[in-house]
Amino acid sequence: MTAELAQDHAAFAGLGTVGELSSPVRTVPAALPAAALDEMFRLDDGLRWVALVGAGDPVLVERSRFAMLMSGRLGYGRLLHGRRQLADLPHPPTILVADDTPVALAAATLIQERPVRSGHAPDRREGFLVGDAAGGLRAAAVSAVFERLATYFAHQATHDPMTGLPNRLQLMQRLADAGRTGHSAVLLYIDLDRFKDVNDLHGHAAGDQVLAQFADRLRRQCRADDLVTRLGGDEFAVLGTGAVSAEHAGALAERLVLEAAVPFTVTRVDDQGQVNELAVQIGASIGVAHTATDGSGSQPGGLEALLTQADLAMYRAKQHGRGRVEHFEPQLLPSAADTAATMTQRSMERRLRAAIDEDALTLHFQPVVALPGGRAEGVEALARWTDPDLGVVPPDQFIPLAERTGLILDLGRWVLDAACRQGAAWDPGPDGPTVAVNVSPIEIAQPGIVAQVAHALAASGLPASRLCLEVTETAAIEDLAVTAQRLRELADLGVRIALDDFGTGHSSLTMLRELPVDIVKIDRSFVRQVATNVTDAVLVRLVIDTAHSLGMTVCAEGVEEAAQAEQLVALGCDTAQGWFYARPAPTSPHLAWALRSKQELGTPGDPTTAPPLLSGSDEMVLVSDATRVITYASATSTQVLGRSPADLVGTITLDLLHDDDRPAAAAAAIGSHNRKPLVHRARHGDGSYRWLSTTVTVVVDDCGMVTSILSLSRDVTEVVQARQALERSQQQFRLAFDRAPIGMTLTRIDGTFVLANAAFERLVGRTDAELSALRVDDITHPDDRRADESNLAEVRSGASCVHHIDKRYVHADGTVLPVSVSTSLAGHLDDGTAYLVAHVLER
Ligand code: C2E
Ligand code: CA
Ligand code: CA
Repeated sequence: MTAELAQDHAAFAGLGTVGELSSPVRTVPAALPAAALDEMFRLDDGLRWVALVGAGDPVLVERSRFAMLMSGRLGYGRLLHGRRQLADLPHPPTILVADDTPVALAAATLIQERPVRSGHAPDRREGFLVGDAAGGLRAAAVSAVFERLATYFAHQATHDPMTGLPNRLQLMQRLADAGRTGHSAVLLYIDLDRFKDVNDLHGHAAGDQVLAQFADRLRRQCRADDLVTRLGGDEFAVLGTGAVSAEHAGALAERLVLEAAVPFTVTRVDDQGQVNELAVQIGASIGVAHTATDGSGSQPGGLEALLTQADLAMYRAKQHGRGRVEHFEPQLLPSAADTAATMTQRSMERRLRAAIDEDALTLHFQPVVALPGGRAEGVEALARWTDPDLGVVPPDQFIPLAERTGLILDLGRWVLDAACRQGAAWDPGPDGPTVAVNVSPIEIAQPGIVAQVAHALAASGLPASRLCLEVTETAAIEDLAVTAQRLRELADLGVRIALDDFGTGHSSLTMLRELPVDIVKIDRSFVRQVATNVTDAVLVRLVIDTAHSLGMTVCAEGVEEAAQAEQLVALGCDTAQGWFYARPAPTSPHLAWALRSKQELGTPGDPTTAPPLLSGSDEMVLVSDATRVITYASATSTQVLGRSPADLVGTITLDLLHDDDRPAAAAAAIGSHNRKPLVHRARHGDGSYRWLSTTVTVVVDDCGMVTSILSLSRDVTEVVQARQALERSQQQFRLAFDRAPIGMTLTRIDGTFVLANAAFERLVGRTDAELSALRVDDITHPDDRRADESNLAEVRSGASCVHHIDKRYVHADGTVLPVSVSTSLAGHLDDGTAYLVAHVLER
C-alpha cells in the first residue's frame, strides 16, 4: 500500500467503522431553501466528508474544504454568509481534490473489511452531505455513500471508459483465477490494422467511434461468458474459459477478422457544422493461444503466459500481411536468452507507438551554416523521444526500432508535418531558413511518400524550395533504380534532396551521377580527422571536387572544432553543421532570431595564421581506377615528380615506377587499406629517379570490387640518400674493424660481445659466433674481474671516456694471456644505445 493510500485509508478509518448503520439516510429535498442547508451543515457535526455526485464523476471532499469552496473562506459558519449554491461551484472534477483511485480503493477495502457488529452503534454520527448538480444537498449514511463510490470506482478501475469493456486488469484477474481453478482457457489477442490512419485522416472522434463500434461487434460475436476486454489503444482480447475447443476459438477468430473488415460508419461534423456520414475500412490481426486440451490448465509461466503467447501469434499475423489469424506455436517463443530482449523490444515498441499517437515526440533543430562565415541558413530537424519510464531514448535506438516495426511511416509523417509547420512559423516566405528532414529508406520505398510530402507542404504553407529531404547513402544503394525514380518525383515537387552520411556506405563517387541529389552531406567520421589526417582531407577534397563538378553542394557534418572548420573552408566546403556552431535544441526565440537575421554562429580563426594541411603539404595525391589508370593528380605532382596533373591523368601508375619496385607497389594495392608506407623509386620528369614514400588506400564497393586506388606520396630522396651514405660508411667501418692488426671488440654496456674482429678471435682462440654468447667476464681471469668491473663502472657512469687496464684473459685452451685493454664509450647511455669499443694489445 502506498503511503498516500495508507493515509487515505486512515482518513476513512477515522470515521469509525459503520457496520449496519442504524441511523437512516436523511434525504433533503432538492428544493430545500439554502438557509436550511446551511443550518444542517452547521449543526451536523458528524459530517466529515461531502460527496458531490452529479453530472461529473463522484468526488469526496473534506468538510473544511467544502466549506471553503462554498464560502470562499475557510471556517465553520462562514459558509452561512457565502450564500452559495452547489450549482455555483465550478465543475467538480476540476476543483476538488479527492484522488480517485486511493479513495476508491480505501472505500472498497473499508466496505469489504467491515465487521458485522450488529447493534453496535457508532459513537459519532457519521454521514455525508450528498450534493447534486441541481444544487441540492442531502445527508446520507457513510455506508450508502461508500457502496456507491466503491461500485463506481471499482467499475472505473476495471473498465475501459470509452467502450465500456472490461480492461487489462480484469483480464489478468480472470487469467489468474482460471489458473488457480485449473480451468482450460483460450485467448484471442486482437490488434486492429490501419487504425492509426482513421485517426489521422478523420480525427480522433472518428477513431473513437470505430473503437466503440468494434467493441459492440465483439460483444455480439462472443458468448456471454467470454471475457471481452480492451487492452488499450486498438488492442482487444477475448478470453474463453471452460469448455472451449481450439476449433471453436479458431472459428471465432476468423469471424472476428471478417467483422473487422466490414466498413464502419462514422459521423463527422465539418467546418460548416454539417454532420456527414462516412464509411471507413480497417481490419484486424488476431493471435490465438490456448492451454492444453486436457484441461489441466497447468503450463509453464502460468496462465498469464497465455497473453504473451497470443501476443506473439498476433505479431506473426501482422508480419504475414495483417488481416489474418495465427495460432501460437512453441517455435514462436523466443529462446530463453532472447525472451527478455524481445519483451523489452515489444514494450519499447508499444511505448513508441503510444508516443507517436499521443504526439509525445518532439523535434530538435540543429542549424546548418554557410561557409566560410558560419551564417545560419537553415536547420536539420532531429526527432527526440522521452519516455516517462525509460527517460530519453536516443534516435540511434528508436529509429532502427521504428524501421523494424513499420512505425517509421507514422513517425516520419509526424516529423515531416511538424518540421514543415515549424519552418513556416519561423518565416512563411521563400527566403526563410531551409528545413532538412531525415527520411528513412523504408519511407522512400513507399509510393505514398510523394503525396505525403506534397500534403505536408500544402498544409503548412512552407515553400517547397525550403524543404530538404535527407536520404542515407545506404538507402539509395538498396535499390538504386527505384530510389532514383522516387527522388526524381520528389525533386519535381521543388524540394531539395540531400545524400546523408556520405562515405559510410560502400558507394563510390560515381553513384552521385545516378541520383538527383542537390546536397552531399559528408559523414562525421571523415570530418573528425580532416584537420589531422591527410588521407581524410584528401578524400573530403575529392568528394567536394566531384560534387561541385556535378553542380551539387557539400555539407560537412559533426564539425566540433575550429581547426576542422578552417580545414573545411580551405577545402572548399559549402555548408557545415556541428557542435562548433550549435548543438541540436528545441525551437526557441533565440533560434528563431538567429535564423531570421542569419547570424554568424561560429567563425574559424584567420585561415592564414593556421595554414591548412593540404595547401602547405608537399604530398602528391594520385587517384587511379581499378586498372591503375590515373584519374586525378594533385597540383603538387609538379613539385614532386616534375609532371603536371594534366600530364599524369590517363597514364598508368605502375609505369611511373622503377622496374625493381613494381612488384612491391602492385602488392601494396591489394590490401584494402595499407597505412604502412612503401618506399620506392619513381621516374621524375627530368629523367632521374626520385625516392617516394607512398601510402596506398584501395576503395572497394559492396561486392569487394576495387573502384579506385588512392595514393599519397612524399619525396624522401634525401632521406634515402642519407641512409645509403650511412650504410656505406658502416660497411667501411666494418671493413676497417675486421682488418685491424690489433684485437677489437664491440660489447654492450653489460659486457656481452656484439662484434669481435679477426685479430681478437685469434688472440682468445674463439670465433665471433662463440663470443656472442659470452660476456667479457667469462674470458677474464677470475682474479682480475673485480678490477675490470670497477674500471668499467667509471666508463658506464660516463665519468671517463677512455679507460686503460692491464689484465689477463683466459684463452680457449686454458692458457693465461696478459693484455692491455683501452675501452671507450660509443653511443648514448641515456637512450640505451651505448656500446663499449675495446682495443686489445698483448703484453
Ligand atoms: P544524422 O541524420 O546523421 O544526424 C546528425 C546526428 O549528428 C544527430 O544525432 C546530431 O545530434 C549529431 N550531431 C550533430 N552535430 C554533432 C557534432 O558536432 N558532434 C557529434 N558527435 N554529433 C553531432 P542524433 O540526433 O542522435 O540522430 C542520430 C540519427 O538518427 C540521425 O543521424 C538520423 O539518421 C536519425 N534520425 C534522427 N531524427 C530522425 C527522423 O526524424 N527521421 C529519421 N528517419 N531518422 C532520424
Ligand atoms: Ca541527417
Ligand atoms: Ca548524417
